[in-house]
Amino acid sequence: AKQQGRGASLVFKPGMNEAIEKRRALEADLDRAITRGEFELYLQPRVDAVTADIVAYEALLRWNHPSRGLVSPGEFIPVAEASGQIVALGEWVMAEACRLSGGLEGRRISVNVSPLQFRNSRFVSCLGEVLKETGAKASRIELEITESVLIEDDKRALQVLEALKRMGFHVALDDFGTGYSSLSYLSRYPFDTIKIDRSFVSNLGVVDSAQVIVRSIIALGNGLGMQIVAEGVETIEEALFLTQAGCDELQGYLLGRPVPVNERLVEVRPVIGM
Ligand code: C2E
Ligand code: CA
Ligand code: CA
Ligand code: CA
Repeated sequence: AKQQGRGASLVFKPGMNEAIEKRRALEADLDRAITRGEFELYLQPRVDAVTADIVAYEALLRWNHPSRGLVSPGEFIPVAEASGQIVALGEWVMAEACRLSGGLEGRRISVNVSPLQFRNSRFVSCLGEVLKETGAKASRIELEITESVLIEDDKRALQVLEALKRMGFHVALDDFGTGYSSLSYLSRYPFDTIKIDRSFVSNLGVVDSAQVIVRSIIALGNGLGMQIVAEGVETIEEALFLTQAGCDELQGYLLGRPVPVNERLVEVRPVIGM
């Protein structure tokens, strides 16, 4: 494995074979999973940093696999993304989120959109159809998009985002600070929300520069009129720092884990003595 020599990619190791077979099996299972109703959306609260009111829920996909049990999206989303199955899966997620959106006490539901889904030429029209079929209001839905879709095709990405805004959707820039972040994205694209990636939040008490970086993201986003959400908030110290730094919303295990819809929190006790 140390040698990157000629023909190295042709060497077929038994481990690779296994990995490929596992992936094929997962792909085949994914095909059947939607029709068999094996997917479920879990909801995790997004909480107002000052009042502790739940302002939104993030929808997180869970797969109840008949033999493997709960499979995490970290395992099957990359497979579905590589095979293209994410487009059909994403449509199911969107339809389900729309159906749920009416029953969340007026709170918004945020939905993850994969890059492949976003780039699909039918994405915008498909969303329009789902709204019509479910009778959901776009204003109750926030679409979480990662930076990786923006580098692909600047003009088209802007057109899609503007179309989504016209339809009434909120849009969030997810995992901000990872990947090829560019500050110019923030002024060029019409985002309502920036989600500070969990890696910055978990570094707050650990890496000296993390506090400076997080403060800067908050100042920048607030200055541009965006809502700032911090992901992965696990400790009171993190919550306290973020609130004092002017972060608008907190999300993380401290405030509430993702849970099935009927077990969702409707109230979070203030964790910070404001
Ligand atoms: P993400 O969009 O960054 O979602 C946040 C992830 O962090 C979730 O993992 C959530 O359970 C986890 N999390 C929340 N609070 C905490 C915390 O305090 N500490 C830690 N350690 N983790 C926390 P999950 O549900 O396993 O999802 C992983 C990723 O899979 C998501 O990352 C998202 O990129 C993707 N994903 C999930 N659902 C969907 C979906 O419906 N569609 C698409 N395209 N992707 C999805
Ligand atoms: Ca997300
Ligand atoms: Ca994220
Ligand atoms: Ca603020």
